[in-house]
Amino acid sequence: MRKMRRKGLASMAVQTVASTTDSAVDLGPAAALSCRECGHRVPLGPVFACEECFGPLEIAYDFSAYDTEELRKRIEAGPANIWRYAPLLPVPADVATKPNLNPGWTKLVQADNLARELGVDAGKLFVKDDSGNPTHSFKDRVVAQAIEAARAFGFTTLSCSSTGNLAGAVGAAAARAGFRSCVFIPHDLEQGKVVMAAVYGGELVGIEGNYDDVNRFCSELIGDPAGEGWGFVNVNLRPYYAEGSKTLAYEICEQLGWRLPDQIVIPIASGSQLTKIDKGLQELIKLGLVEDKPYKIFGAQAEGCSPVSTAYKAGHDVVRPQKPDTIAKSLAIGNPADGPYVLDIARRTGGAVEDVTDEQIVDAIKLLARSEGIFAETAGGVTVGVTKKLLESGALDPSSTTVVLNTGDGLKTLDAVAGTGLTATIRPSLESFREAGLV
Ligand SMILES: *Cc1c(COP(=O)(O)O)cnc(C)c1O
Ligand SMILES: [Zn+2]
Repeated sequence: MRKMRRKGLASMAVQTVASTTDSAVDLGPAAALSCRECGHRVPLGPVFACEECFGPLEIAYDFSAYDTEELRKRIEAGPANIWRYAPLLPVPADVATKPNLNPGWTKLVQADNLARELGVDAGKLFVKDDSGNPTHSFKDRVVAQAIEAARAFGFTTLSCSSTGNLAGAVGAAAARAGFRSCVFIPHDLEQGKVVMAAVYGGELVGIEGNYDDVNRFCSELIGDPAGEGWGFVNVNLRPYYAEGSKTLAYEICEQLGWRLPDQIVIPIASGSQLTKIDKGLQELIKLGLVEDKPYKIFGAQAEGCSPVSTAYKAGHDVVRPQKPDTIAKSLAIGNPADGPYVLDIARRTGGAVEDVTDEQIVDAIKLLARSEGIFAETAGGVTVGVTKKLLESGALDPSSTTVVLNTGDGLKTLDAVAGTGLTATIRPSLESFREAGLV
């Protein structure tokens, strides 16, 4: 059944680069690639689809040598970025010495003001604020992994299909690490995202179409000689890229004092981030770094691009593609590759998938800004808006420890809050100030 769901992958050639597919590559504890559907294992390489069943490949690790307390100490003594978790990631042990943007270890903000507004118990609501990353979105985490894989496999050009934030993260990481970059985006993205992607000096190509068209184009390019030597961070390097999202799970638990949260609200574009946060939590449990207990994972979408929440609400386990129409462009993937896995995780953990309208997204951006001083991009409006909605419906428990993700920076999506501006314009005199009615 899954084979049918993943038909799209079948058309993408399983690409290899000559002489780089032996498992001699040093990517730390990463042992092999393993198919999520049939378990078929292949050596580490720039491949992403199973040759047996076309299922997605993911990293299989060998963590058998780790002692829990030693590992905890090693992590706590590590750098204040994602490389503190290098023993759990597909990267070489000396990764922290390589030119990389070193993202992560962003703030976990105890959001008591927002909690009061939403009716959550004091001390129970947290915002994991990933706008603090080098290019102001969570995408720096995933690109940091992909770039180490690109180095290991000998790629010289970094590329991606992007809804905006990824383009900036790839451009910046490539500049730092000395790769050429050429990235593809829908031609009509927010100005802030276009500038942010272009300023690092790589090539930026607008495609006349939506993200799903851009992604299809990239798959074609991978199969063509023109794409030889190109590492597409979210296509042929996807298994490595995806692991970067586990660091959100690690950080949240470590910042809570090595405890699992009870509830997490995560935005969904392709669904990769959500599925890998779950993978990261499971690893921490298996490694004994946190005490095992139930947790619930909630997915958040914009109503204008809600293929996963629509399937969730209908009780389906197949995700029907949609044509996106929402201000939450960073989440506007109408055909999410990890959609079925998101449904599995939400149902298995007792969570849910919910969506909010563009108007609710804008209200939530403003609510978060005025209550906590955090200016989120539209994706953050989606998670905060969905949190509010799920608290109102009773799906979220207001007395449990809840973490809401803000994955991007409001400065990149200023249009969403257009109309927010000057309270008054006055002459530089007290009289004029009084006239404006502000005293
Ligand atoms: C890419 C992105 C996500 C999540 O993407 P997935 O494809 O679901 O992993 C979330 N928030 C922002 C701001 C993003 O740019
Ligand atoms: Zn398979």
